[in-house]
Amino acid sequence: MRVGFVGLGIMGAPMAMHLHKAGYLAAVYNRTRSKAEPFAKLGVYVAGSPAELAKVVDVVIVMVSDGPDVEQVLFGPGGVVEGARPGLVVVDMSTNSPEWARRFAERLAKHGVEFLDAPVTGGQKGAQEGTLTVMVGGSEEAFRRLLPIFQAFSKRVIHAGPVGYGQAMKLVNQVVVALNTVAMVEGLRLAKALGLDVEKVAQVLAEGAARSASIELYLPKLLKGDLSPGFKAAHLKKDLAYAMEAAHKANLSMPAAALALELYKRMVEKGMGELGIHALGEAY
Ligand code: NAP
Repeated sequence: MRVGFVGLGIMGAPMAMHLHKAGYLAAVYNRTRSKAEPFAKLGVYVAGSPAELAKVVDVVIVMVSDGPDVEQVLFGPGGVVEGARPGLVVVDMSTNSPEWARRFAERLAKHGVEFLDAPVTGGQKGAQEGTLTVMVGGSEEAFRRLLPIFQAFSKRVIHAGPVGYGQAMKLVNQVVVALNTVAMVEGLRLAKALGLDVEKVAQVLAEGAARSASIELYLPKLLKGDLSPGFKAAHLKKDLAYAMEAAHKANLSMPAAALALELYKRMVEKGMGELGIHALGEAY
């Protein structure tokens, strides 16, 4: 299977690099071409458009920002469908929503192209170390066929159900990530206000009942004053908005997640969307 990778951002670049090491990567495309340079140096074909990329591969992985960005990559000018042939498989690993996933699947099916939604969790560190968890929505058969590709950058791959279920599972994950991160940020603020030694607080949080991936991945950065992403606040705001939309449709109230969304919205409105999610305290 020849794989083409679209979107070489914080997550996409290391994921594509694992695919290269595993011998699957045939082509890459990134809107800002400079980010593809490390791949060009390794002899990987850098396509001029998603359409050019689609022409030379069996599987297209998309790892961009939001649903409208995936739509542009797939169906916009120079998009994947312009270079697609029947039998191609498209995998969207960006986080968006079950609705986007179902729409992409329907539209691609008209071109004979199969679609999987396969968002990931594990952060930048998980992408770099190849220890992500992948949540796949789509047919059981395609899931099995593509498993070796997912395994190139993950420690666990879950078949969540039909198309859309990968995104649904990821939204659940994001509610928990968001609330853990808000808890970490507020806990640390309280620790400082009470005059505690934050290094010792960090030790307790990392080892006791409060531990979480937010503590593991982001507390060390926060203590160093490093507010860079990791995981951009704008992306978490997007994920929470989709989660609230899903909850609304299910007639479910999620007051804590609603508050987290308001906090991250505020952060983005203050022009801090490109900072990491652990920088939330800056917006208080
Ligand atoms: P990122 O660093 O912001 O990278 C986004 C990538 O998407 C860039 O390569 C960007 O191209 C490309 N892109 C955005 N809009 C585009 C468009 N309209 N057309 C073409 N390319 C476009 O984001 P990231 O952290 O890698 O996250 C990618 C996705 O994974 C997001 O959906 C995010 O929510 C999700 N995610 C992130 C993490 C994390 O910890 N970072 C973890 C799990 C899931 P340019 O270089 O040209 O800007």
